[in-house]
Amino acid sequence: MNNERIDIFGVPVDVVDFPRALATVDDILRGDGGGFIAAVNPEKIMRARDDARLLQALKSAKLLIPDGIGVVWAARWLGLGCPSRVPGADLMPAICEIGAAQGRNVFLFGASPEVNEKVARILPERHPGLRIAGFQHGYVREPDMPRLVADINASRAEILFVALGSPRQEFWMMQHAPELSVKVCQGVGGSFDVIAGKVRRAPALFRRMHLEWFYRLAREPQRLRRQAELPKFAWRVMREKWANRSGVAMN
Ligand code: UDP
Repeated sequence: MNNERIDIFGVPVDVVDFPRALATVDDILRGDGGGFIAAVNPEKIMRARDDARLLQALKSAKLLIPDGIGVVWAARWLGLGCPSRVPGADLMPAICEIGAAQGRNVFLFGASPEVNEKVARILPERHPGLRIAGFQHGYVREPDMPRLVADINASRAEILFVALGSPRQEFWMMQHAPELSVKVCQGVGGSFDVIAGKVRRAPALFRRMHLEWFYRLAREPQRLRRQAELPKFAWRVMREKWANRSGVAMN
C-alpha cells in the first residue's frame, strides 16, 4: 500500500488516518519486505530541520504517522493534504491486536528493566494470542548492540517495539533496520512507561480536545524546553501561509 507522502518544511509525513495506517501495517506484515514506523510531531519537524541525521532517519521510514495535532493542522492549513491524527500510543495496541489475531511474535526493546519486564507480562494479558518472543531494557551499551540484534533475529520476532525516546529510537531503527529480520518495527517513545503504569496518559477529555501535550507539560515541566518548539512551529506555519497568499517565497 503506497501512501501519499507530503513534506512540511522539508520533513516528510504520510497522509494517513488511523484505519489507513493500520492497513499499511497489516500490508507490511503480510508482505515480503519490512520497514519501520516513526511518529512525526511538530517538535520532531523543528528538530529535523537542523538535524540531518534525524531527517535521514525519518526519510527512511516505511510509515510516518502524523502524531501531533499540530502536524494535521499544518498539513491542512497549508493545503498540503488531509491527514488525520494517528497517535503512536494508540497505534501500538492496535498493532498488538493484529499481532494477537495473526499469532505474531513480538519483541520489546526499551525503557527501564522493571518497566520492560512489566510490559512483557501485561501485553499478552491485554491481547490474548500475542506471543512475546523476547524483551530487552533500553540501556544496552553500544558494544552489546550486535548481540541484541542477533537475539532479536533469533527470537523470530515479526513485530518489534522500540521505546528509547526520540530521536534515539529513530537513529537506532535507521541504523539497525537493514540487519533485522522483523517485518514491522515501531518507535513508541515513552509508551512502555504508560503501559507499565509509571506515567499516566492524559485523561480522555484532554485527548479529545487535542490537549495531551498540555497535560504532559503540566505533569512534567522539565519538558518545557522541548515544547517551546511548538509556538515556533505554529508561527512558521502562519508565516508560510501568509507568504503563500502574497506569493513570497520562504526558506
Ligand atoms: N530510554 C531508554 N534508553 C535510553 C534512554 C531512554 O530505554 O538510553 C527510555 C526511557 O526509559 C523512557 C523512554 O525511553 O521509557 C523515553 O520516554 P519519553 O517519554 O522521553 O519519550 P518521547 O515519547 O517523549 O520521545
